[in-house]
Amino acid sequence: MKTTLPHLQDALGRPLQDLRISVTDRCNFRCTYCMPREIFGPDHAFLPRPALLTFEEITRVARLFGTLGVHKIRLTGGEPLLRKQVESLVGQLAEIPGADLTLTTNGALLARKAQALKDAGLQRITVSLDALDDPTFKRMNDADFSVAQVLQGIEAAQRAGLHPIKVNAVIQRGVNEHAILDLARHFRGSGVILRFIEFMDVGATNGWQLDDVVSAGEIQQRIAAHWPLAPLDPNAPGEVAQRYRYCDGAGEIGLIASVTRPFCRNCSRIRLSTDGSLFTCLFASQGFDLKTPLRAGADDAALLQAITSLWRQRTDRYSEIRSEAAQDQRKIEMSYIGG
Ligand code: SAM
Ligand code: SF4
Ligand code: SF4
Repeated sequence: MKTTLPHLQDALGRPLQDLRISVTDRCNFRCTYCMPREIFGPDHAFLPRPALLTFEEITRVARLFGTLGVHKIRLTGGEPLLRKQVESLVGQLAEIPGADLTLTTNGALLARKAQALKDAGLQRITVSLDALDDPTFKRMNDADFSVAQVLQGIEAAQRAGLHPIKVNAVIQRGVNEHAILDLARHFRGSGVILRFIEFMDVGATNGWQLDDVVSAGEIQQRIAAHWPLAPLDPNAPGEVAQRYRYCDGAGEIGLIASVTRPFCRNCSRIRLSTDGSLFTCLFASQGFDLKTPLRAGADDAALLQAITSLWRQRTDRYSEIRSEAAQDQRKIEMSYIGG
């Protein structure tokens, strides 16, 4: 018999509403702010295949979350389109009643995959793109991928009917500030929702400094100086992006101010890592190993019990206490935990 429980709340009263699933810790890019080549070089040990949750295991976990009222599922990584036959996982997840499925990708393989993903049941997609000129983009992805490849991926996603399409750009001081206006100009009026993300101190390898962050407030001002903006209400409670519309009707943008205006008090996300650990915060230093009981034959009730007790105990609010916590906390890399 299937039971549906009301939203589970954590120790700070936050409901559990979103599940992010990392399907691979590998990536074809080496973005300097995420997987710097000095650390993620040829000798880096990625997870061996048997350590990865299978599609059946991922789907079982997602179904359990579904019974807890968690319907928003995002596939991420690493680069999720590198996971072989990821569209078949999308197909399995799409069968979960009420599932609202999306995926975040760097876009390099999207032109090839967009239609298959849509056919399998993917509804929406987010594509990361940090600049519109190749010199800047290639410097940031550090793997010689061109802007044109990603734009072709976005066009293929539009043709396939994935909607809405969001584009995420991480802005770093002195690196791609000029991309703010380039990207705004390019995506205005296209139906694509452009979102700017403040550069964050995720993981332990990206050499983050507060001075490198271009604040959401500054980004908003730079855009509004060219094209006036007006605030929009959030689409849903707990939405992380602050929404603005162009006053001339050319669409909307989002600003994700994780550093300057943290949103921990509304954070309703849990992350499932590639090898089956649950993380209740992007900045967690430790995960909860769900794979061991999963592979040891635990029944649904036991797994649900583990998940509910983990969420009920949750007190994470790293971004709100960043200045006190940042220095000594050992953090897990985003490519593993799932961005
Ligand atoms: N590979 C996919 C991609 O890049 O879209 C999915 C995984 S990636 C870790 C997810 C998102 O995290 C991307 O939009 C990326 O720009 C963002 N990200 C990674 N490192 C970041 C950082 N240090 N600060 C802010 N955002 C970051
Ligand atoms: Fe790969 Fe995405 Fe990280 Fe870039 S941000 S290195 S594309 S996982
Ligand atoms: Fe959520 Fe942790 Fe980010 Fe705060 S720092 S918004 S708790 S993931």
